[in-house]
Amino acid sequence: MIIAVDGPTASGKGTIAKALSEHFGLPHLDTGLLYRAVGRQVALVGGNPDDASDALRATGFPDGLLEDPELRTEETGGLASRVSVHPAVRQALFDRQRAFALQPGGAVLDGRDIGTVIAPDAEAKLYITASVSARAQRRFREMHERGVPVTLLEIEDDLRRRDERDSNRAAAPLVPAPDAMIIDTSSLNREEAIAAAIAAVEEART
Ligand code: C5P
Repeated sequence: MIIAVDGPTASGKGTIAKALSEHFGLPHLDTGLLYRAVGRQVALVGGNPDDASDALRATGFPDGLLEDPELRTEETGGLASRVSVHPAVRQALFDRQRAFALQPGGAVLDGRDIGTVIAPDAEAKLYITASVSARAQRRFREMHERGVPVTLLEIEDDLRRRDERDSNRAAAPLVPAPDAMIIDTSSLNREEAIAAAIAAVEEART
């Protein structure tokens, strides 16, 4: 069974995808990490993330880069969002994601275009969303715990900018697949969101 989990930044899709992978015993790929590695690689070689050929060259990043803790920072998230607008970058990362989805037994993939582009044939498609303020508050708490000095307003601004870029780009914009089940996690806690996602997958496969 292929499970596609899409949604905007900080919607809870990563947590949900991990929980689904454990619950159903399927391997999990966080596809955002691939775009983050491309963004980070561009920065490391002094390239321009808005330039399609610089960004395409960076898709040849070494696999070890996927372990770099810098990939998790907001700064790298912003770079990822910029390199991900280039169709050639998306194409270069397609085969790797598609092969992961097609492994025997199935897989869980989370990202922005899994249900629409990478695995339109997925048995279960979830679109996880939440209000900007709920997402910003979660992100703020996480960053506060890690000791990152940032204000709630800065996080909200950044989320809005990224949503706008991800939703309005021409190549594989962030939109729910027509057959996706939409889960709004604004007023759900972690356990409730996971339970709703498991129930949605169970329903999809019956
Ligand atoms: O999910 P995450 O915040 O790690 O993704 C970083 C950026 O990578 C997103 O803002 C988005 O622009 C891009 N991305 C994408 N398609 C995916 C996964 C991530 O365009 N499947």
